Formats: sequence, C-alpha cells, structure tokens
Amino acid sequence: MIDDTVQVPDGTALATDVCIVGAGAAGITLALELADSGLQVLLVESGGLEAEDAVQKLYEGQVADERLHSAPHRYRQRRFGGSTTIWGGRCAPLDPIDFEARDYVSASGWPIDLSDLLPFYPRANRICEAGEFEYRASAAFQRPLQPMIEGLNSEHFTTDSLERFSCPTDFGGRYAHRLRASANVRVLLHANLTQINFHPNRTAVHSVLLQTLDRKRISVECRQLVLAAGGLEVVRILLANRDAWPDGVGNSHDLVGRYYMCHIAGTIGTLKQPGRDRVWHNYDVTDDGIYCRRRLALTPETQRKLRIGNFIGRLHHPRITDPQHRTAVLSALQLAKGLISYEYGKRLHGGEAMTWGTWARHVGNVLGGVGELFAFGHHMARDRFLAARKFPSVIVKSTAGHYSLDFHAEQEPNAASRVQLSQERDELGVPRLLIDWRYTALDVETVRAAVQLFAQDIAGSGIGVFEYDPQSIETEITRYGAYGGHHLGTARMGRDPRTSVVDPQCRVHGIDNLFVAGGAVFPTSSQANPTLSIVALAVRLAAHLRATAGSIRPSVIASADAVAP
Ligand SMILES: Cc1cc2nc3c(=O)[nH]c(=O)nc-3n(C[C@H](O)[C@H](O)[C@H](O)COP(=O)(O)OP(=O)(O)OC[C@H]3O[C@@H](n4cnc5c(N)ncnc54)[C@H](O)[C@@H]3O)c2cc1C
Repeated sequence: MIDDTVQVPDGTALATDVCIVGAGAAGITLALELADSGLQVLLVESGGLEAEDAVQKLYEGQVADERLHSAPHRYRQRRFGGSTTIWGGRCAPLDPIDFEARDYVSASGWPIDLSDLLPFYPRANRICEAGEFEYRASAAFQRPLQPMIEGLNSEHFTTDSLERFSCPTDFGGRYAHRLRASANVRVLLHANLTQINFHPNRTAVHSVLLQTLDRKRISVECRQLVLAAGGLEVVRILLANRDAWPDGVGNSHDLVGRYYMCHIAGTIGTLKQPGRDRVWHNYDVTDDGIYCRRRLALTPETQRKLRIGNFIGRLHHPRITDPQHRTAVLSALQLAKGLISYEYGKRLHGGEAMTWGTWARHVGNVLGGVGELFAFGHHMARDRFLAARKFPSVIVKSTAGHYSLDFHAEQEPNAASRVQLSQERDELGVPRLLIDWRYTALDVETVRAAVQLFAQDIAGSGIGVFEYDPQSIETEITRYGAYGGHHLGTARMGRDPRTSVVDPQCRVHGIDNLFVAGGAVFPTSSQANPTLSIVALAVRLAAHLRATAGSIRPSVIASADAVAP
C-alpha cells in the first residue's frame, strides 16, 4: 500500500514491526525483501512520487569548501526513489582487497569479507536490473571482444574487469507497483523522521516521531528501526537526537559523521597513438542486452607492492572544454552546457569560463561536423532518450586517436573528513548539515602512482605515449571536487564500539533494534560505485531482520513508557 500523510490525521499513532526510514535504493530494497515476511513494515519517505522544491530544501546545508564538495541539496534527491531517480546506473561489486585491513591504508578493514556479501550480490544485481552477477569480461561474454587497448602489455592492470549498467533503474518508479500491491508493506509519503524515542534503559528504540511540512505529527511505535536515509542524512538523524543520548545516538565515541568518504575521481592526460587507433572504449552488450564496459583495474598485487589504494581507469574522450579536440559532438555539448543537469554538467565542463575565442572555435567545430552531429543526435534519441534501457553515456570516437584517462579511486578513511550539524535549522526545526570533506596524501599518491604505471605500460608496450603533467595530479583530483553522489563511511561498520558505529549486522552498537542501511556503514570506499553493494547489504540486512524479528526481547518491547516526545 502507498499512502500519503495528506490522508493521515494529525496526532495519529501507528505501530509496526519494522519501520524503515528513507525510500531510496536501500530502503526500497529492504521493503521488497520484507514483503510477504509476515512482518508489518512501514516505509517512511520524506518526499512524494515527484520532485518538490519545498521537500528538496530540507536537504540544504553548509559545506566547508564549495570548491571541494557540492552543496548537499545538489546531487541528492529527496523523493520516493531517492537518488536512484537520477543515478547513472553503473554497477560493480567490491573487490576482495577492499575488505582487508591494510597497514598502508589507515582505518581500513571490514569486519566481514567478500564471502559474507557474495550470497546477496546476485539478488542485488537483479534488483538493480544489471543482469547476471558476472563481472569478468572473459566469463560474461562467450564471444571474443575487441581488446580494450590492443597490444597493451601490463602486469599492473587487468582489462578483464567489467562494470555493468542498470537501466538505470529508478527504484521508485520501478518498484512502486510491487509495494502498492503488498499486503504487509505500507509506504508513507511526505513523512519526515525528526525524533527517535528510546525505552528508559536507552538500549532500544521505542518509537519515532514523523513530521510533515504542513505541521502534522505522527508517532510510530516499532520493534525494529532501520535508518536508510542516505549516507549524509543518517548522520543528521543520529546527531540531532540528543534527548536520550546527549552526544547523539551511537556517538558515544565521537565517530558518527567522521571518516566521510566519496571517491577520488577525475580525468587526466592524453593517450596518443601513432598510426592506427587501437582503443575500444565503448560499451559491449551482453546477450541479455546489458551494457557493460571494461576498465583498467589496478591489480591487488600492485596495490600491495606500491602500498596504494584501489584504482580503476577508463579511456575517455578528450577534455570537452578545450576546442582543440576538433570534435563537433564535444563542442556542441560544451555550448549546450546550460541545458545539462548540474550533476552531469559539473563533471563534463566544470565551472570553467569560456572566452569569446574559445566559444568561436567550438562553434567552428560544430559547423565543421554537422553530419557527425546528426548521427550522434539520432543515436542518443534512439538509444538513450527513447530506450527503456538507456545507452549509459556519451562515447565519442576520437578522430585523432587521442583519449584521456578517466579515473575512479578509493579514498582513504580519515577521521578529519567529517559531517557535523550546523547552527542552522530546516523548516522542521532539525539542524542542517555542515560538511567538511577532506582527502589525504595517500589519495593523491594512489592516483599519481597508478597514472605513472599506465604511462610506463603504454610506452613499454610500444603502442604510443600517455602524456600528462605529474604536477597536476592534485589539481585534477580536486578540479570538480568530491564525487558528488557517493556518501560513505559516516556510520562505519566494525566489531569494536570504540572504533565503529554499527556492528557487522549494521546494528548500532549498544542499541538492540536500531540499524543503518546504506553507504554510511562502509568502512572503506573501494574503487567501485557503491549502489550495488548498498543493495546487497540491504538484502543481507532484510534476511537478518526476518530471522531475528521474533527475538527482540519482549521485556524491552513491553517495558515501561518511552521517553516522552
Ligand atoms: C547524479 C548521481 C549519479 C549517480 N550515479 C551512480 C552510479 O552510476 N552508480 C552507483 O553505484 N551510484 C551512483 N550514484 C549514487 C546512488 O544514487 C546512491 O548510492 C544511492 O541512491 C544510495 O541509496 P540510499 O538508499 O542509501 O540513499 P538515497 O537514494 O539518497 O535515498 C535516501 C532516501 O531517504 C529519504 N530521507 C532522507 N531523510 C529522511 C527523513 N528524515 N525522513 C524520511 N525520509 C528521509 C530521502 O528522501 C531519500 O528518498 C549516483 C548519485 C547521483 C546523485
């Protein structure tokens, strides 16, 4: 059933077995997995079925340095479906090395390993609509594929590693009908969790208070509470609730909001190939129609030997802002930048200003390539805008055989990289966020070493040259700031309450029935985009909730009154 608080009178008191807060990738997955479980499930979502300015404003907050991190109401979406309403759909699982405690990556190590998540990945892959759970090109494709870089001889990188693309599936649009039809799941739209009430002993949640923008208050008594509000908002919820826990919920050791990670991403250098173009940087399509792309993945042996983080690279079109690429499509995208949404425009062209001279050269490129533009327009209309499964991105073959290297690397956990509460409050009286994202010397070193190896391998293979300025690494990784949509590490998972916020089952240490679902629990970021793993963790958490639903101590559930709202 999907309800809206419009239909619920002020002062209503509800009760449920499981209350899930936030209907994004994590929350919707949990609700789907708990459908037909016999448990009563309430999925509470701040937004409605469409984007609304007043709701989105609840996401506003402050950033310590806007050059390094976008304002928090940009990029994220506060509505049913969460940020999957605009995500790119790139899926990749975590690598075995991501779970290891590595002495050269501070605060690294998960309390679980890949074998704990593997049983849940195939299902997560299906929920993300990314086909079979097979991320090795050699196993996913029975037919021979054109080499990614013909003649590349490297012991540092593998090109067998795949990323697969979701439709991209908007979890709201795709799964609303299943939730609507479910007998035991009720979705409540336009409901914001603003307060968590504990039993007097403080070790179990009793109920939550939901508020609406039109000032209704609804209480929900619940046996289990799951915060699936996204990696930034979970911090806000935990830190803003100080009635029972003066430092914030789960924050006895001042860890909530610390170790905030995104990914270290950027585009660097130019691969130049004498003679013919040996690069295949386009998508390969599986027999069941899934777009896949191969990457240059730094091997775990190389990471350990060089004592650097995880890293992948893809070959990419030349930098779009520079008209020297002489490519009509890229110039047209540069000239049309006002029409491209913030999330994608920022990475395509950044905030770089255009001079009249540059503008004129872009126009020249466009006029010189009208046929190319027409073909591109036709391809995008057919394969992206009109297709149910969308062609994932702009792929432009370079006429000169020039490519840049697009990288996506692990960010080292760092306690000083932090999300806190600011002095400002939102419409509902909840403190807004203050985000101070920071990167470390190891983050720069990971990219520096990997790019250097790539240049060496290209030269050593005798297939061209990769030109880049080694002094520009830090500039390139900060050019567009932190990778905007990935919010990780703010409620990290671990066994020790002194160094982590949630336990291996994603339960907040010391609180029997409070769980966190989403990227907040990642102790390290990996190179991989996070959503597939967020969904796998949510499938795993749902299995845990199903198995333990009856085991919440009745004495706690039936105990004396809650801390009054
Ligand atoms: C432009 C963009 C592109 C991306 N591309 C990719 C990609 O290619 N691959 C990938 O893996 N990831 C990508 N991501 C990241 C991906 O969108 C997130 O990892 C994913 O959406 C996280 O899911 P979530 O459920 O944890 O959080 P969200 O999707 O953020 O959902 C959280 C939900 O909680 C609700 N909520 C928040 N606070 C409250 C409250 N107090 N009360 C009630 N409800 C609340 C919100 O309204 C929202 O619906 C991208 C993100 C963006 C922005």
